[in-house]
Amino acid sequence: MTFDVLVGQQSAKSRLVRTLRDGRSHAFLITGPDGSGKSTLARAFAQHAVCDAPTERGACGTCTPCVLFEAGTNPDVRFLERSRLEKEKYLKVERVRRELSSDVDLRPQFSRRKVYVVEADDLNEQGQNALLKTLEEPPPNVVLALVARTSASLLPTVLSRVCHVRLRPSPPEDLRRILAAAGVSDEGMTAFYSRYAQGVPGAALALAASQDFAALREGVFSLLGTLGTATRSTLLTEGYAFFADTRNKKEIDDLLTLLATVVRDLLVLSTARDPDLLMHADKKDMMERIRPKGGDAARRCQAAAAAIEAARRGLRANTSYETTVCELLLQMRKEFSHA
Ligand SMILES: [Zn+2]
Repeated sequence: MTFDVLVGQQSAKSRLVRTLRDGRSHAFLITGPDGSGKSTLARAFAQHAVCDAPTERGACGTCTPCVLFEAGTNPDVRFLERSRLEKEKYLKVERVRRELSSDVDLRPQFSRRKVYVVEADDLNEQGQNALLKTLEEPPPNVVLALVARTSASLLPTVLSRVCHVRLRPSPPEDLRRILAAAGVSDEGMTAFYSRYAQGVPGAALALAASQDFAALREGVFSLLGTLGTATRSTLLTEGYAFFADTRNKKEIDDLLTLLATVVRDLLVLSTARDPDLLMHADKKDMMERIRPKGGDAARRCQAAAAAIEAARRGLRANTSYETTVCELLLQMRKEFSHA
């Protein structure tokens, strides 16, 4: 496995390789949101660190440590995370002690180093404290690679001893390559997924693969298409039925987020700002049709956006689903009616 398993992120890769090669740090923290590829990068880095003939591109793939690594049987590389099977909330501190703190002093068996890849989001304070001795007095040839969404949950004593490498949002051209490899080549959709996922490859891939998401998006546009002209009773039956299909928390959140992004686009169009700012650029013609017109178009879009946020807050606070959704629909109809 070379670093090519992760598209882009060149500066993160170079920083890991150079810092390790120059012996400037033996402990690393790789952060990035879910789907950014941080665990993939940590694996490639672990293999690079145990490989007998690594290059800037990563591990060689043919030496004994590499062959063992790729078979999942290199005893010099350990992955520590909480057990999802046993529904553990955190990685047990005894495991950190047994599999890491007490293990680091044993010599590597096949490789020039021993590497520990730790899901740091799974560590509570005790678990982090158990790492401190290894961070402070690392035995030679031991590498720690912590992986986390952000550094926020880590103790300052841990943070001060690691080389922190952040994964950045992937630029559109990288996401285009990633989506193309997954069979998504439509330029409009690629641009949409890339923006909607805020440059996070795993999120863009999940969106592209989800028929539910595509259907939800079409549903949002069709709702907005009829909103301005729907009668009150149509809105409260058909419009409500669309929401009623999505009663689970994740789906309603997705729906409101989609709705909010379309309204934001309508605001962009209403204020004649740069069309490059549009998230749903492939739906531009339709959005031109449904957007509020006239001198107070921007104010109406902002009011609609505020209504969506109010509904989101209401649902989080467990107000009646039906009341909240109906209020939102009526408020949006008011802002989007062309009368
Ligand atoms: Zn190798």
